[in-house]
Amino acid sequence: MSENTRYEGHVAPSGEQPRSLSLDTQAVWAGEEESLVQGATQVPVVYSAAYGYPDVDAWLDVAHGRTPGHIYSRDSNPTVHAFEEKIRQLEEADAATSFATGMAAVSCVLFGLLSPGDRVVSVKDSYGGTNRIFLDFLPRFGIGVELCDTTDHEQIEAAVSRGCSVLYLETPTNPTLKVVDIARLAAAGHAVGATVVVDNTFATPVNQSPLALGADIVLHSATKYLGGHADVLGGVVCGPADLVQKIHHYRQIVGSSLDPMVAYLLIRSVKTLALRIGRQNESALRIARWLEEQPVVSVVSYPGLPSHPGHEIAVRQMRGYGGMLSFGLEGGFEAVKRVLPRLKLAHRAANLGAVETVAGPPATTSHVECTPEERAAMGIPEGLIRYSVGIEDTDDLIADLEQALAVA
Ligand SMILES: *Cc1c(COP(=O)(O)O)cnc(C)c1O
Repeated sequence: MSENTRYEGHVAPSGEQPRSLSLDTQAVWAGEEESLVQGATQVPVVYSAAYGYPDVDAWLDVAHGRTPGHIYSRDSNPTVHAFEEKIRQLEEADAATSFATGMAAVSCVLFGLLSPGDRVVSVKDSYGGTNRIFLDFLPRFGIGVELCDTTDHEQIEAAVSRGCSVLYLETPTNPTLKVVDIARLAAAGHAVGATVVVDNTFATPVNQSPLALGADIVLHSATKYLGGHADVLGGVVCGPADLVQKIHHYRQIVGSSLDPMVAYLLIRSVKTLALRIGRQNESALRIARWLEEQPVVSVVSYPGLPSHPGHEIAVRQMRGYGGMLSFGLEGGFEAVKRVLPRLKLAHRAANLGAVETVAGPPATTSHVECTPEERAAMGIPEGLIRYSVGIEDTDDLIADLEQALAVA
């Protein structure tokens, strides 16, 4: 593929106005119009490896980006395009591109933007796979990595001030829902010319807008809340056109493109995103408050609780506190092993963000790669349960937790 063969990630039409419709409305309508055909009201699943052009001049115009269109589905596809455009509008970004998984999004951002000799600053509590890129892969390519205590903003600022080309943040984090101040750290990053990246998977565009808070790039594992039904894998990246083009170019060549059928399912999922997240925000807050009152529960981590160390920042930068919480049991890991099988309204699985409630210990979910000692050093007790609140009735979930905790 030549340098000027271009679908460069989806870029906004120039002169686009700021959001005039609410996010809830955009989640339903945005991004689809361009991909509709033959009067169908829903975006078609276009399965075609390549796109044909009987006229060579017309083909050249598309290939060189002079007219919109598609050449080859590793580069762009009408169904995938509609998904990218929908998320681009929800994140109020200039451009967006999508990926086969969330980890493909994370990798393409890092490998698309970094070169040998560069330095990355991030936090210790990033997603497990992201952490492995920082520790196992970037150093092999001569890229320096400094991982700071997630909630120690002074330590992060000091690391950034020593110079870095990417500041990579995630908030809230897995599994103890630590919160980092995006606006404060984005300012620190920009002072040294860094590109500031935020993994917004836990918050979703409904609860948090990293770009409005000063970040340059926002990314998601679409496998979680955007998909919401625990059935597909995907990822998406939004930001300014020049950066997204670099990341998209890397994706084109590496080939970690989103499948059109998955893009279709994600479009359908995102239509209910605001409804689902609204319900999950309300339910999780009520459940977190209820858990705090249970004598067998040693600690509850939820950014919406005043007892949470990140609550003050969360109040400032989040519109809702999300559907993820975790809680510790006084009885430790033995109590976790008794309680988890008793839950009737939860899948015991390594997923999160679904319409069904999902529960599991960090030892088998977020921190499966760590030893108990490493988890303890990270402030993750063995008696912890990560609980991803679904869209079930809140009273039913509390009743289910109550009967399960009876054996704690
Ligand atoms: C799951 C997850 C990822 C990775 O996404 P996959 O779709 O599983 O590859 C990245 N970041 C966060 C915060 C996640 O929860």
